[in-house]
Amino acid sequence: MATITTAFPITRVEHSRRPSVDFDNLPFGSIWSDHMFVAENVDGEWTGAEIRPYGPMEIYPSSKALQYAVSMFEGFKAHKTPEGDLAVFRPDMNQKRFNRTAGRFVMPELPKELFFDALRELLDVDRGWLPDADQGALYIRPSYFGTDPALSVVSGRSFRFVLMTAPVGLYFTGSKTVSLVTTRKFVRAFPGGTGGHKPAANYGPTMLASQQAQQQGYDNVIWLDGHEGRYVEECGVMNMWFVIDGTAITPPLEGTILPGVTRHSLIRLCADLGIPCEERRISVDELLDAHAAGTLEEAFGSGTAATIQPIDRLGLEGTDVTLAQRPDSIAARLKAELYGIQTGRIEDRHGWLWRPI
Ligand SMILES: *Cc1c(COP(=O)(O)O)cnc(C)c1O
Repeated sequence: MATITTAFPITRVEHSRRPSVDFDNLPFGSIWSDHMFVAENVDGEWTGAEIRPYGPMEIYPSSKALQYAVSMFEGFKAHKTPEGDLAVFRPDMNQKRFNRTAGRFVMPELPKELFFDALRELLDVDRGWLPDADQGALYIRPSYFGTDPALSVVSGRSFRFVLMTAPVGLYFTGSKTVSLVTTRKFVRAFPGGTGGHKPAANYGPTMLASQQAQQQGYDNVIWLDGHEGRYVEECGVMNMWFVIDGTAITPPLEGTILPGVTRHSLIRLCADLGIPCEERRISVDELLDAHAAGTLEEAFGSGTAATIQPIDRLGLEGTDVTLAQRPDSIAARLKAELYGIQTGRIEDRHGWLWRPI
């Protein structure tokens, strides 16, 4: 990890908004901590790094970000450990994925030192915003976008990096389940596209599909491959998992699937817990056959926001499949293990936690 500590100018808020926030009822990502980190890349040089109060910022209406979606993000979390430390979960994975996405959009790489120094300083300034472990976590959102006010279709010469944090609640620890339906009308990703990266533009086009799923009585969609429309890829904005006859199955990363940090961690945890796990293609036909044979046991999504999202109903090309929720499910076991490690209650045997302050 980075050891250089860059001294950024810090402008602090006069009055923290922290006392007015109800930490027992935190929504997801709509309450932001007092400060943000901002830096610009102009003609290849990083400049103007500073921490200042979270708030609106100036951007030209003709910027590449607004005109051409030259914009990307990351998302990960910090939790409070029993000792009261702040522990960030696998930020190195997000830092690498950040630069992979940047490269796909011809945006300059963000130096690893800058990423970690900015993160450490911002977390230190807003450490009071870290919820207690029984209240939630601190969600960390890096954002990076083109600010060049010019309409030529190139990524441009100026870019802005913003790091912000939001205390988020524990909505995922409840027993809330969701329902999903396959769609053939909409495609999330296709070979050669950006489905395996994290540009802002991966999310906007999914909203109409979720809205239509909701009109059909489901919470969200199951994305099928864009080539044949046979294989499951992801669900909503999460990676997708099934349990068939005791084996956890998740589709392989073949460019159209986002390489989730949660997904990657769960594959490791399956090995640790002795749960058979396969990364392989899984078709809607196979799911229907498994359901008919009585071996389709579980389905769940994985991602930073919800960690593991249990699914209780699948609409598979017209067949509705109901999945019973068991307290000893593989989803529940994986979730308890992952959350235990993230909050420092279970030994961090893979070195996944970063305690910067
Ligand atoms: C971010 C994201 C995920 C989940 O990734 P995590 O690193 O586990 O949070 C899954 N699918 C899509 C499309 C995503 O954008």
